[in-house]
Amino acid sequence: MKWKSHRAIARAISQELSLPYDLERALSDGSVEPDKRPDPLLQLGKHGKGYVVRAPHHHPHTGTVMGLAWMARRAYLQGNYYWAMRSMGRALHYVQDKSVHTGFMFLSHDSREEAIARMDPPLEAVVRGMDMAVSSPDFVRKCVIKVRPRRNAKDAMYEATLYSSAIFASVFTSPETTERFLVDYRKAVRRRRLRWLSAAGMIALSVLAAIMFDNFIIMILGTVMAAAILAIDPHYHRLKGEAEWFGVR
Ligand SMILES: [Zn+2]
Repeated sequence: MKWKSHRAIARAISQELSLPYDLERALSDGSVEPDKRPDPLLQLGKHGKGYVVRAPHHHPHTGTVMGLAWMARRAYLQGNYYWAMRSMGRALHYVQDKSVHTGFMFLSHDSREEAIARMDPPLEAVVRGMDMAVSSPDFVRKCVIKVRPRRNAKDAMYEATLYSSAIFASVFTSPETTERFLVDYRKAVRRRRLRWLSAAGMIALSVLAAIMFDNFIIMILGTVMAAAILAIDPHYHRLKGEAEWFGVR
């Protein structure tokens, strides 16, 4: 996407929320920054050697966007709104580039970006994006994955504006508005403790069985099962990320 389009989406979001001028400026500057100073991406070569490349824009890694969204969220929780906006702008750059189909060998890419640059971000997409937002890292990740590259210029602008607004609203929702989450988190911590107890019990039981049956295989099996009980808990791991999102320790 052209800088004009990145900046136009930043302005549309800022105007909808009546952001102060300096924050709009930070968001807008962040939105074009990855083209000036690329984000690094570590890649593994054939022989396991790591090397750093420029993070791709039109086919971004979800991790690149999530890293920047997390930087924005942490800065926001610390009250550093300037850096929060700047990092958010950087994250949205990738979401917006991803909305544009590059075409075969980039052949139709330039003319498509020209056409997009002549368009204004639709206000309807800003409002719809903010309405559908849920404040959680899981929601942000789902948005990044859902963005589809569009061939039609109008669709690309709509897609970019919709998901940029949704991610913006998700990251910048104050933790106080999500009290309900805390109850869920405390419940999960309690469940986690129960899991630890049952895992410990499993190891103790298998040691006993191993002595009784003089068979160490049983003990190894018991330990593997205990490890499995602790590892298979995606709900807990997801909530742990959410706890940090809401500044809960
Ligand atoms: Zn770019």
